[in-house]
Amino acid sequence: MATSAGQRRVIRIFRYDPARGGNGHYDRFELDIADPNFTTMLDILIRIQREQDPSVAFRYACRVNMCGSCGMVINGREGLACKTNVSDLPLDQDITLRPLNHFPVVKDLVVDMAPFFKKYEDAMPFFTPRAIEAEPAIIPPDARERQDIGLATECIQCGCCVSSCTMVNYHDGYAGPAALNRAFTLLADSREGRNDERLRAVLHSCYSCRTEFNCTEVCPKELSPTRAIKYIQRLAIKHLAELSRPEETPDAAKETAPLAADSPATPVLQPIDGIAWGSQPDGSSGLLSDLSRRQFLRRLTLGVCAASTVGLGALVATSAIGPSLKKNPGRWIPVSPMDDLPLDRVSTVTMRYEMTSGFHTETTVKPVMVCRRADVNNMVVFNTTCTHLGCTVRWDAGKNIYVCACHGGQFDHEGRVIAGPPPRPLDTYRFKVESGYLLVEVA
Ligand code: SF4
Repeated sequence: MATSAGQRRVIRIFRYDPARGGNGHYDRFELDIADPNFTTMLDILIRIQREQDPSVAFRYACRVNMCGSCGMVINGREGLACKTNVSDLPLDQDITLRPLNHFPVVKDLVVDMAPFFKKYEDAMPFFTPRAIEAEPAIIPPDARERQDIGLATECIQCGCCVSSCTMVNYHDGYAGPAALNRAFTLLADSREGRNDERLRAVLHSCYSCRTEFNCTEVCPKELSPTRAIKYIQRLAIKHLAELSRPEETPDAAKETAPLAADSPATPVLQPIDGIAWGSQPDGSSGLLSDLSRRQFLRRLTLGVCAASTVGLGALVATSAIGPSLKKNPGRWIPVSPMDDLPLDRVSTVTMRYEMTSGFHTETTVKPVMVCRRADVNNMVVFNTTCTHLGCTVRWDAGKNIYVCACHGGQFDHEGRVIAGPPPRPLDTYRFKVESGYLLVEVA
């Protein structure tokens, strides 16, 4: 790689000292960087600590992307400080460093990883052999299960994926992408002996995933926890199918799981895609011997089938009915009396309206940010949906910017991106003022 030209960069570091309390703040540092192509954010932090402020706290160990210690949020995106070069970050922006989201902050950029490892532990990340063998049980590199597992075993537990996951914020019990990724590597391993327990432990969490791909996007080892989660869901659905299959002939029943929910026999599921399943080292069948759960899952499967049928029927009907179900034309929604919107200030107001899609009508409640000016033509009404991943943006009056707290996106008062990952400015609404009332157009 060619030597790059030197740069003078501003680095803003989140500071929080538990001894002082408060909500933390950013400290500003400036550094001359001789070769941005070969200077990592970890190098920068070490220099700042040695040259400018020895009290800056951060964590690191290996320096070579192996230990996962230096995970943090760099310009709004999770990454390893030792893997992120200065030249990776836009020259026209300050560099911001803050601790991982969703973790308790110990000090400055150091977070408490205990909750992360507790969830990791709950997902049973250890290997338990199905049987004690004299020789190692070998899985050839080209075996289907090895290829399914792929690089997922390369996780370094840095926590970047958990920080990027918005669902972690909403579901306390959600295991999170890293733990589910680890569970997947064992669920897909035919030598593993406690997979029913493991599936029982992680399945609920899988339904908290909304497939936002944030974890996959930020993982510094280029893993896909999203894929792992989908694999677990698929695995569970395949087992639900086994459980809901109609009665079979006696011969077939010898090889497949009994289907009657109240059958006293111990069911034995066949391997699925090379995944041995059902029987355990102690001879129990775990998941499948739990009749009440089996009944529940069976009903759930039937429910899913019924819902799919209804959904398909609705789709066909929608196509047939045609024009009557066309998308609604734009509508003007009254949002606020103009008198309630202070001049030269940004106000967040809520609009409420009915949305009809097909046969379904629901009430939509959505905040909008109104930047009121004396000249109505200069007013702007911003959509609060972040253009990155759809999180909610709010106005920070103290900093005079719009902020997306989830991923560190920042927009100036005109809605232009000034930091973080958003790919484009904030969206705006068309609006008009009638009889002293602000109306906003929605699709
Ligand atoms: Fe870090 Fe990737 Fe493992 Fe998540 S899956 S902890 S981002 S290495």
